[in-house]
Amino acid sequence: MEKRKDFLSYGKQSIDEEDIEAVVNTLRSPFLTQGPKVEEFEKRIADYVGAKYAVAFSNGTAALHGACYAAGIREGDEVITTSITFAATSNAVLYCGGTPVFADIDAAIYNIDPEEIKKKITTKTKAIIPVDFTGQPVDLDAIMSIAKEHNLIVIEDGAHSLGADYKGQKVGSQADMTMFSFHPVKPITTGEGGIITTNSEEHYESLKLFRNHGIQKTPYSLEQGDWYYEMTDLGYNYRMNDIQASLGLSQLNKLDGFIERRREIAALYNEKLADIPGIILPKQLEGTRSGWHLYMIQVDGRLVRKPRREVFDEMRALNIGVHVHYIPVYWHPYYQELGYKNGTCSNAEKFYKQALTLPIFPEMNTEDVEYVVSAINSIIHPC
Ligand SMILES: *Cc1c(COP(=O)(O)O)cnc(C)c1O
Repeated sequence: MEKRKDFLSYGKQSIDEEDIEAVVNTLRSPFLTQGPKVEEFEKRIADYVGAKYAVAFSNGTAALHGACYAAGIREGDEVITTSITFAATSNAVLYCGGTPVFADIDAAIYNIDPEEIKKKITTKTKAIIPVDFTGQPVDLDAIMSIAKEHNLIVIEDGAHSLGADYKGQKVGSQADMTMFSFHPVKPITTGEGGIITTNSEEHYESLKLFRNHGIQKTPYSLEQGDWYYEMTDLGYNYRMNDIQASLGLSQLNKLDGFIERRREIAALYNEKLADIPGIILPKQLEGTRSGWHLYMIQVDGRLVRKPRREVFDEMRALNIGVHVHYIPVYWHPYYQELGYKNGTCSNAEKFYKQALTLPIFPEMNTEDVEYVVSAINSIIHPC
C-alpha cells in the first residue's frame, strides 16, 4: 500500500472559529482566572450530565486527586481499580497515601469486572475507581450495589466517557463522584482541564476546599472582616482558569455532534473490519452507548502469525497513528518497586498483548477509515 501523506493520529481535538473567539473574548475581559466562566462551565457540565454539582480542576489528574481526598482516602486504605487505564487513576490513590488494588477486567468489554471487584474486597477497602475505558461505561449498577453492601465510595473515572450513556442516562450522575478530563484527545477540550461531578453537598464542599489551598471563609473569619480567611486543611492550587473554561463552554456546544460522529466512525469500522479474520472487535455492554473515545481492536494471536509489534510498526510506516492503551499499570517500574507482581490480572495482560488502538476523532472522514481498514487487512493477510 502507498503511504498516506499526512499522519493520521489516534485522536485529535476539533477547534473552530467559535472556540477561538470564545477564548479571545475572555482574554479581553477583566478576568483570566476566578471570573464568571469557571462557574458557568461547572453549571453547564452538571446540567449536561444531570448531577447537582460540578467542581472544575486544572486537569483530570488533579480532579482525581481531589476526589480521593473528598472520599477520605488515607494511609492504610485500599482502593480497587483496573490496570487497563492511564497511570493517573491509581496514582491519585497513592497521592493520598492509599493502596491501589488491581481487579481484573471482563475479557469481552475490557472494563473492570464486578465479580473480580468482589474478590478483592477486604476490611481495609475504602473505595472503588472503575474506569469507562475507551468511552464504554462500566456496569455501574453492579458496582454501586457492591459498594452499598460494603459501604464503599465509588469514583468513576470518566476521562473517556463524557457524552456516553448508561441505561439511558449520561455518565456522570450515578457514581458518588465522576471525573472527566478535558485533555485535547478527550471528548471535549479545555487545553488541560478536568472536573468532578457529584450529587453530594459534602463532597462538593471538600472538592472546592482542596483545589484552593484548603482555604475557606469560616464563621470565625467572617467576624474578623472581609479580607480574612482561614486555611483549615492542606490543599493545593488546582484551579481551572477562565481561559480554559471559556474554551470548554464553546466546546460543550458541539459535544453531542462530536459523539454522534464518533459513533458513525465506530459503526463504519465495525462493519468494514467484521470480515477480516484474526481481528477481535470491541463489544458494548447491553444498555450502554459508548462515546467511542478510543476504537480498540485485538489482533488475535491464535489466528494472526504476525506479532502485534510488527502490525503496529507497519501501520506506523503507512502514517497511521495506531497506539496501544494501556500498559497494565502495575507493570510500570514504579509500581513494581512498590511490590506489585506481574500476572495479577490475567485478562488485562492478555488484552494488552493483543490490543491495538485505531484512529478515531470527529474530523476523520470515510476515506480515512477505509484506508485504515485496507492497511490492516493487507498487513495481517499479505498475499
Ligand atoms: C486522561 C486520563 C486521565 C487524566 O486526565 P488528565 O486531564 O490528562 O490529567 C485519567 N484517567 C484516564 C483513564 C485518562 O485517560
